[in-house]
Order: sequence, then structure tokens, then C-alpha cells
Amino acid sequence: MLSHDVLVIGAGLAGMRAALEARRKGVDVAVLSKVHPVRSHSTQAQGGINAALGEDDSWEKHAFDTVKGSDYLGDQDSIEIFCKEAPGDIIELERMGTVFSRRDDGRIAQRPFGGAAFPRTCYVADITGQVLLHVLHEQLLEAGVRVYEEWFATSLIIEDGACHGALAMEIRSGQLEAFGAKAVIMATGGLGRVYEPSTNSLISTGDGQALAYRAGAALMDTEFVQFHPTALRNGILVTEGARGEGGYLLNSTGGRFMEKYAPKMMELASRDVVSRAEQTEIDEGRGVDGFILLDLRHLGREKILERLPQIHELAMDIAGVDAIDEPIPIRPSMHYVMGGIKTDVNGVTLLPGLYAAGECACVTVHGANRLGGNSLLETVVFGRRAGAAAAEYVSGVAPANVSATVVSRDQEMIKAILDRSDGADSVASIRMEMGQTMNRYVGMFRNEEGLQTVVAKLAELKERYQRVGVQDRGRVFNTSLLFHLELGNMLDLAQAMALAAGHRKESRGAQFRRDFPQRDDENWLKHIVVRYTPEGPSLDYSPVSITRWQPERRVY
Ligand SMILES: Cc1cc2nc3c(=O)[nH]c(=O)nc-3n(C[C@H](O)[C@H](O)[C@H](O)COP(=O)(O)OP(=O)(O)OC[C@H]3O[C@@H](n4cnc5c(N)ncnc54)[C@H](O)[C@@H]3O)c2cc1C
Repeated sequence: MLSHDVLVIGAGLAGMRAALEARRKGVDVAVLSKVHPVRSHSTQAQGGINAALGEDDSWEKHAFDTVKGSDYLGDQDSIEIFCKEAPGDIIELERMGTVFSRRDDGRIAQRPFGGAAFPRTCYVADITGQVLLHVLHEQLLEAGVRVYEEWFATSLIIEDGACHGALAMEIRSGQLEAFGAKAVIMATGGLGRVYEPSTNSLISTGDGQALAYRAGAALMDTEFVQFHPTALRNGILVTEGARGEGGYLLNSTGGRFMEKYAPKMMELASRDVVSRAEQTEIDEGRGVDGFILLDLRHLGREKILERLPQIHELAMDIAGVDAIDEPIPIRPSMHYVMGGIKTDVNGVTLLPGLYAAGECACVTVHGANRLGGNSLLETVVFGRRAGAAAAEYVSGVAPANVSATVVSRDQEMIKAILDRSDGADSVASIRMEMGQTMNRYVGMFRNEEGLQTVVAKLAELKERYQRVGVQDRGRVFNTSLLFHLELGNMLDLAQAMALAAGHRKESRGAQFRRDFPQRDDENWLKHIVVRYTPEGPSLDYSPVSITRWQPERRVY
């Protein structure tokens, strides 16, 4: 058995930041990731990362925008810490070697982003995540952190009610190993592939949330799913930075329809508002072949090529348009989950020894809707805090006394999958049906009937999942087996998401119920917490922390 003080599962920004912090505190840390660290989804982040650095800006203004963006569901004590610590983390990233885009006077440039009253988003052209991820990877190597690349975590090791490590499969050999650890930090990112289409990488399958959920940690705010207003035909994202730099949204009449929905903020209202406005235009017949047009032409060639070079290239490759001369056809697509493993501001979950940070966690700073640029920030602020807290925790914990035979549990589970005869059904078709059903009924607009349909459909898909096999029965790089395991994780999460969405009888942030179109603070200013039981998910509530911003009507 392999053994470390702290095991970090996930090598995106949150995992690497957490590992670095724990290492700095002097403990033995290892990172385990199903892909090479710089292939984590964080690399796709384009637009930027928020912090109140500007002369006229302040952490309080950032916090208010975040609270308002969350539709008053974000916990304000967490949001205060988040926004206060943000500038320090940006400066640190810069000192580590991030080449942020600059203003003429040499200071870090900041662009306007949705729902923000100030230009507060720091960026590196439109490849911010890629640059940050490479910088952190270099730091990780320099710090001498052991990285297990291309290892797939299959379950957590729980002894005496506490988390003492994880089981994982080396993808290259198919070998299962037990990793003993005094603490585990879950940093496995989002679960976008529960939907079809999604802007997320194919690896964003919510494994960490599912592992933690089954092991006894709670999930929170799972009903809140963000649809990004500007995705290309196949779900590939066009950054909010395109609107931040001044891009317009046009309908088939050539009008800037956001005037009707958000007269003040227009295209830079919060994402839930813009996405619903676009879909309404499309549904009411003012779309262009099922799309909305994102017009950058007035920005001019120079600005487009300097600030949005990747967008220019993607629009050319995927939509076949040159954004310098033509508008880009876009539409909303599933993008981000506000919910995740319930934690406090130090990444502490309800399961002793288990911490979580990044998109898989729910602190909750985003509440019912996240602002663009706040997610990258969450990975570094709360990754750092979780790393520090886990390092402190392990100093008081005896080494894990884990039996070497613990691996047999998952070995048998995998053998059972490989032994199944493959019938007519397939992992791919179950996955596609799940994704399309979630998109249709747990999407931007929801109602009771649709939510009941999806619960029934998921029960059918789970039943089929129990019987479906894989074609590849080998052990070496068996990606069919990985897709199978990922699908099992996603089905459990989809069920929790659909149930919570059906339970919340109001509209708030990203959850819009046609049958309950108003926000209802009297009954629903609270988080829904979902816990796993063998009989199915059980629901409970958690209060919202309000420090200084009383709920108001949210208009942009
Ligand atoms: C296209 C796109 C653009 C975005 N742009 C922005 C932006 O401009 N600004 C912003 O603030 N946010 C943006 N976001 C959101 C933000 O990028 C993510 O929320 C954030 O990067 C998530 O980081 P993370 O470290 O939590 O997870 P990830 O970067 O997703 O990393 C997850 C890690 O977990 C590992 N892992 C997962 N499952 C397992 C398993 N079973 N076993 C072992 N390892 C596992 C993976 O290998 C990976 O290393 C964007 C998101 C997308 C999809």
C-alpha cells in the first residue's frame, strides 16, 4: 500500500494550489489525477479571474456583486473571506510567474465581466486558465510534490467514520492500489458531462462528488446549474470576455434585445439572466437558425486579435465565421455547477479527514448563480485554505491503519463489470440519454412535470446501468471501463440534482421554475443538502449566512 500524509485527488487549479500549500506547511503530500495535470479542465478557462485591485474598487463591492449574483443564496461569511483574500492571491500568482495582460501604465489589466459593477477580471488574453495551470504545475514540481499521473480514483477508504485514503487504478496497467492518507482533499472539478451538450471537457464527470457523497459527505445546492450565454454549436465556449470587451448580442431583427431584459447592464447582466433572455428570443422566433448572434465587428481587427485570439480561431474552425467581418452564431450551453460537496471556509466536509475545494466543492460563495471570473478565484483562495487546514489536521492524526485487502472491494466491482456479457445496450447510449434528458428537463427552464419525468427516466437508466457491460475486457488503458465508472458516478449525481430541483418550489438564480416563477425568500432562503442512503437520496436544509446584505429584488 502507498501512503502519504495528505492525498489530493485532482490536479486542476484547486488541487495543485491545495497541494502546494500543504507542502509549504511541511507535510508529505501527493497528488493523484486521471489526466496529466495540465490537461485538467482548468486549462480551458479563457476569460479571467476576479479581484478588487482597481483604485475605485473594493473587496466590499466585489462581495456585494457576488451576493447579488448569487440571488442572495451565497453564504455571506464565506463571500467576505473570498473577496478580502482575492487581491493577495492574484499578486501571489503574478509573483509565481503568471504573465497577466497589462495596462499601458504596466499594472495588471482588468476587463468588465457579467454582473460586476467594476472591471475586475484579471486575464491573460483569452487563455487565462492555461497559463495559471502551467504556472502552478511548475510550482508543484519545484516543491517536490509526488504526482500520480493517469490514476483514476474509484472510492474512498473509510475507517472508524473517518476518511483514510482512496483506492485508485493506474490507467496504464489497470492495477488497483490503496493509497493510505491521514487526510484526503477532493479537487476533482465539475460534472458538466451529466449534460449534453456542455462546455466542459469529457473528463468533467463529477467523480469526486460521487465518491464523497457515497462515503457520507453531503452535497449542497445541486439544483443550481449554470448555462453560459455564449457557446458555439458543439458546446465549445466563447468567453464572457468577448462581451466584456464590448461585444453585442443580436436577434434576427438585428436588435440588441438585452435592452428589454437588463436595460442597465445589457449584455453584461449575470449569466442566468442573459441565457434565459437568449433562449426566450430563440423560442419566440427571433433567433437565427436556432442561434443568437454575437457581434464583435465594431471592436476592430486589432483588438480582436490581441484580446480574443483564441475566440477568433475557434469561431473560424467551428462556426466557419471570421469574427472580424461576421457575427458569431452562439447559444446557451450548460457550463458550471454551483453545488458540490458541502464544506466550510477551510474545505472541511461533514466526513472527518475529507476536505474539498474548487468546482467539486460548495463553500458556498456562488449560491444560486456564479459570476464569471469567480470560479478560478475560488480554486486558488479555497484550494490554499483547504491545503493549510488539511496539513494542520494531519499533525494530530495517527497514521492510517488500513488493511491491504481493502482493494479487493473495488477489484471485485471492476471484475463484475468486465465479466458482464455485452448486450444491445451501451454505456454511450445511456450517457447520451441521461445528458439530453437533463438538458431538457433540468435546464434553464423547469417545471414539476418535467422534473418528475427526469426522475423516472434516471431510475430507468440506473437500472440499465446495472446490467450494461463494456466491449474492451483488457486491463491496459481500458477507457471503456473508465467511461463505465464515470457514468455510474454521473447517474448518482444527476439523481441528486433532479430531486433537489423538484424540491425547490421557487425561481432563484439559475433555477427557473415556470410553475413557481417568483423568488420566495420566506420559504426558500435556505440551501438544500442531499445525503446518500442505500434507499436513495435524502434531503435536508442548511441556513444561509447573511452578514450585511439583506435580500433585495435583483435587477440588472
Ligand atoms: C470552457 C470553460 C471556460 C471557463 N472559463 C472560466 C473563466 O474564464 N473564469 C473562471 O473563473 N472560471 C472559468 N471556468 C470555470 C473554471 O475553469 C473551473 O470551475 C475551474 O477551473 C475548476 O478547477 P478545479 O481545480 O476545481 O477542477 P479541474 O480543473 O476540472 O480539475 C479536476 C481534476 O480532477 C481530476 N480528477 C477528476 N476525477 C478524477 C478521478 N476519478 N481520479 C483522479 N483524478 C480525477 C482531473 O484529472 C483533474 O486533474 C471555465 C470553465 C470551462 C469549462
